[in-house]
Amino acid sequence: MKTAIYYDDLFLLHDTQNGHPENANRLRVIRRRLEETGLWQQLSRPITHRCTREFLELNHTRQHIQRIISACENAPASLDPDTVVSARSYDAAVLAVSALVEAVDAVMAGELHNAFCAVRPPGHHAEKDRAMGFCLFNNIALAAHHLLNHHQLERILIIDWDVHHGNGTQQAFYDSPQVYFLSLHQWPLYPGTGRPDEVGSGAGKGYNRNVIFAPGTPADTYMQTFEEVIPAVFEQFSPQFVLISAGFDAHKDDPLAQLQLTEDHFAAMTRLVLQQAAAHCNGRVVASLEGGYNLMALANSVERHVRELMQVGS
Ligand SMILES: [Zn+2]
Repeated sequence: MKTAIYYDDLFLLHDTQNGHPENANRLRVIRRRLEETGLWQQLSRPITHRCTREFLELNHTRQHIQRIISACENAPASLDPDTVVSARSYDAAVLAVSALVEAVDAVMAGELHNAFCAVRPPGHHAEKDRAMGFCLFNNIALAAHHLLNHHQLERILIIDWDVHHGNGTQQAFYDSPQVYFLSLHQWPLYPGTGRPDEVGSGAGKGYNRNVIFAPGTPADTYMQTFEEVIPAVFEQFSPQFVLISAGFDAHKDDPLAQLQLTEDHFAAMTRLVLQQAAAHCNGRVVASLEGGYNLMALANSVERHVRELMQVGS
């Protein structure tokens, strides 16, 4: 087995209340689809790792962590107008981070080629001291910190193809030359950051890249840009590990944005990243679910994404 899916039913207990687009049905439809196709039985793994509060402090302030714990004790509670928690949200959020750490460790150990973390809450909007945009802790940023600190890697590439800008991940590594953050997103759109002139600061200048698309941009235009930018970034940065903030809300059917991709495009994007990763870093890739709010589009896209991950090495 060379690809794994990390998931736990605890993620369903992060209850975001009535009608919230980021709800447990997102993971239920993913799981059902992967079960129906036999992929779940083949690939899913339990999450055994439990990261500590100290680990969360690699990317978040103590006050931020305490605010989330307190909010859960007083649940239901809102951390911002979009970001609500239930009693088990802190536990689910910590387990989401733990899933990524476990996936990264398994890939670094050579037990896996790659992995997909079917987690919620998502993470890429979470800043060091602020929960926002449905995100509590920055899952992907913490995975990058783990690769730097524990595995002593020096060049991590984070590709964020969620349709929204990954403001929290950008903030985490804005002055670092060790983590290259590439975000492709619709603009203007929530959260309002992510302009192309945000290129990093200090030693990190040149290691942050925002690629923007106007609402309604044709899929062919998006793909042409993607196929230019991805190989160029790999060539320039030569990453040792690739993390994907895999949101699927750039899908044409997604209710929260106006890009035009289909599951075919997500498959092609996955394929290109894997080809580049094979050439530069032994194919070390861990992807983590971010957005994606049309349930049918989400199930279709995740299935195609996972099938591409499985092609590696087989
Ligand atoms: Zn999104």
